[in-house]
Amino acid sequence: MRRRLEASEELLSPFAARGRTSKGRREPEEPSPLRLEYQRDRDRILHTKAFRRLKHKTQVFIAPALDHYVTRLTHTLEVAQVARTITRALNLNEDLAEAAALGHDIGHGPFGHAGEEALAECLPEGFRHNYQSVRVLNVLENGGQGLNLMYETLDAIEKSSKAREDIFAVGWGVPATLEGQVVKVADAVAYVNHDIGDAVRAGLIRESDLPDAARRVLGTSKGARLNALVTDIVAASWPATGAGGVALPVIAFSPEVAAAVNELREFMFQRVYLYDSTRKEAERGKRVVIFLFEHFARHPELISPDYSLAGDPVERRAADYVSGMTDRYALRLARELGCSEALDWVT
Ligand code: MG
Repeated sequence: MRRRLEASEELLSPFAARGRTSKGRREPEEPSPLRLEYQRDRDRILHTKAFRRLKHKTQVFIAPALDHYVTRLTHTLEVAQVARTITRALNLNEDLAEAAALGHDIGHGPFGHAGEEALAECLPEGFRHNYQSVRVLNVLENGGQGLNLMYETLDAIEKSSKAREDIFAVGWGVPATLEGQVVKVADAVAYVNHDIGDAVRAGLIRESDLPDAARRVLGTSKGARLNALVTDIVAASWPATGAGGVALPVIAFSPEVAAAVNELREFMFQRVYLYDSTRKEAERGKRVVIFLFEHFARHPELISPDYSLAGDPVERRAADYVSGMTDRYALRLARELGCSEALDWVT
């Protein structure tokens, strides 16, 4: 079975990641009789407790009470879907893209980017969800042993974050594999689209408010936009299949679509992500996270050993513990501990 799978991996694009040419795992392991290495990574990530907690973590709208808002879990699944479509179309390694997509946001704390900002203020070394995703998978899960994932999976997760000005800006690093580049762009393709849906749902914008160029180039429904974006990426990145004799292919949009996406993203920053009422909720989430961090930094004996390493500095342990919490667990705990911010937060 494995020989058959290994032979199928050889049929991928010459630029695809392969187990055979990988930098491998921190600790070498015997191959599985049934699965290739990136399949094993995907399965390990899927079976973690941190992955399950994504269902109660904020994507953009904080602790949403209504069922149709996107959560970190459904966002993650949409990123995996987009990344798999693109990698399969380009004959790249779909298993690697899926593994990295499933893990890319696993280090997000409660209340989305508000929680991230709060922990960044609390820790002397700062806090970034992409680095925390790597830390959760590489160190904290599996009783402090980590999952011993492949180098390329961890690299794609670490470098999945994007700078505000451009999806392909070098901010947070360029992934070592094309599959990692696919996950980076798939994240933006997914969130721009589902965040539009959520913002309309929340009454912040109407579909007709979207910038003209975006509506003209990408279409006027979620399905049309997703299809336009994915199709454009595949066409613009076609040398990644090995066709055309390009020595160093990259994953890209066409210039016209890139401009439309960046304009759409900037629109979302101004009208949704940084909007006053969104910010007010975010500030509240931040104060709850800071309250919890300070509580556990003062009482490290209360930190569960399952979510931190005993030998780490107290601040690091408190941040690891609090960042693992779901929105609702963090709120409930903060209420029990008498955090005034949490007490009058109606969700
Ligand atoms: Mg994401």
